[in-house]
Amino acid sequence: MAERITGHTELIGLMAYPIRHSSSPAMQNEAFAKLGLDYAYLAFEVDNDSLEDAVKGLRALKMKGSNVSMPNKTVVHKYLDKLSPAAEMCGAVNTIVNEDGVLTGHITDGIGYMEALKDNHIDVIGKKMTIVGAGGAATAIEIQAALDGVKEMSIFNVKDKFWGNAEETVRKINENTECRAALYDLADLELLKKEIANSYLFANATGMGMKPLEGKTYIPDKSFLRPDLIVTDVVYFPRETALLKIAKEVGCKTMNGLGMMLFQGSAAFELWTGQPMPIEYMKEILD
Ligand code: NAD
Repeated sequence: MAERITGHTELIGLMAYPIRHSSSPAMQNEAFAKLGLDYAYLAFEVDNDSLEDAVKGLRALKMKGSNVSMPNKTVVHKYLDKLSPAAEMCGAVNTIVNEDGVLTGHITDGIGYMEALKDNHIDVIGKKMTIVGAGGAATAIEIQAALDGVKEMSIFNVKDKFWGNAEETVRKINENTECRAALYDLADLELLKKEIANSYLFANATGMGMKPLEGKTYIPDKSFLRPDLIVTDVVYFPRETALLKIAKEVGCKTMNGLGMMLFQGSAAFELWTGQPMPIEYMKEILD
């Protein structure tokens, strides 16, 4: 890395806390190096208290942009000049782009999920999906899927602190897109089974299946799935969650969260550099 830093090198940041575990710096710097682009990507420990100063710093240093992760995703919009339509609807930002001093907030998580579907030759546009989740990942996917043209969406969640967020998401989708969305309680498993039965795709967008819920799923048995159903998970560690294991046993086409992670980074990369990430090369590195 030191060998390729010059006086012209553009800086891109990642503002979050905790953040030292993130794989984004390795991923983005590998991609810059592969394409010979003169950028460097560094992680900065920034929480809500230091966020405003950090964004001022980004402006003052004329940084090209930054990724933003927890706990800053739903707060950083206060310090930016513009938001993309998806970021506005999600109420969250994971990517800042600095264009001549104008800071625009984008959310690329949902784009990442939709691009990962395309990459797996899965076409959900004009069709119905059932999705479980009302947190950050789920909201980004639900909004982007609706904006991209999914026809009908059944959203399930447990009645926890995220329930109100899911109600807001359903309202925004129904008011602002052609997609028809509805919200149901995940406790009603008979209804979940019925909604999955007439969906093209079923998605888990919660941490179910990942530590501390590793090995667990809310799908009680194989009768909830069928061979021609697509089943996706946002979790990528482990690569195969309990849900994806059952789905594979039934014969469903499956997709884990690795593609979403790669393509959300790729979308941000393209916003900063104007060039697509070398996806096939990145897949080799990530696997
Ligand atoms: P979050 O905390 O914002 O949301 C948590 C969600 O899980 C809520 O819908 C909540 O109701 C639900 N939940 C919590 N406990 C539950 C339980 N016992 N049963 C059923 N539902 C439960 O989290 P998030 O940021 O949306 O992340 C969710 C998952 O998505 C995590 O596993 C995270 O690693 C993954 N993720 C993946 C990517 C990717 O690129 N693949 C990106 C972001 C997040």
